[in-house]
Amino acid sequence: MVKATNELHQKSLELLEQRGVQLEDIAELVLILQQSYIDELTLELCLENVKAVIRKREVQNTILTGIQLDILAENKQLMNPLLDIIVDDEGLYGIDEIMALSIVNVYGSIGFTNYGYIDKIKPGILGKLNSHDDNEVHTFLDDIVGAIAAAAASRLAHAHPSKSDITQ
Ligand code: MG
Repeated sequence: MVKATNELHQKSLELLEQRGVQLEDIAELVLILQQSYIDELTLELCLENVKAVIRKREVQNTILTGIQLDILAENKQLMNPLLDIIVDDEGLYGIDEIMALSIVNVYGSIGFTNYGYIDKIKPGILGKLNSHDDNEVHTFLDDIVGAIAAAAASRLAHAHPSKSDITQ
């Protein structure tokens, strides 16, 4: 049976919160990505765009899948060698980034550039998720958060074409 989008949406928001990610944290990343391109861009407008991205079903599917894998790894419920790879957040694994691309591409190819940039500098919440403190595993979540920010930034850019066309 096909799940109601509402249920997927609700669960996605719940899981992000449970795993320590506030939507405002993601909005801050969007602000970093777009503030030089859109005059008087506010955190509030960024937040609106983050919320719109999370209303998309393909985004919800990725959130549910990625966070589930993080939690299973944290609880040592995956098989080895995959368990160690995900717990250690091995750089050559790459499936976390591949999965995040299903979010990045939702609003066109600008998202791809934004994602690469934010993944490299890891500001704010991305730095926190990548710190590998305690026994928390955020191998998938960090890419998902970066991808949501990148997609929200693309959505914003498309809504303000005059400036962003020239600069991106
Ligand atoms: Mg990762």
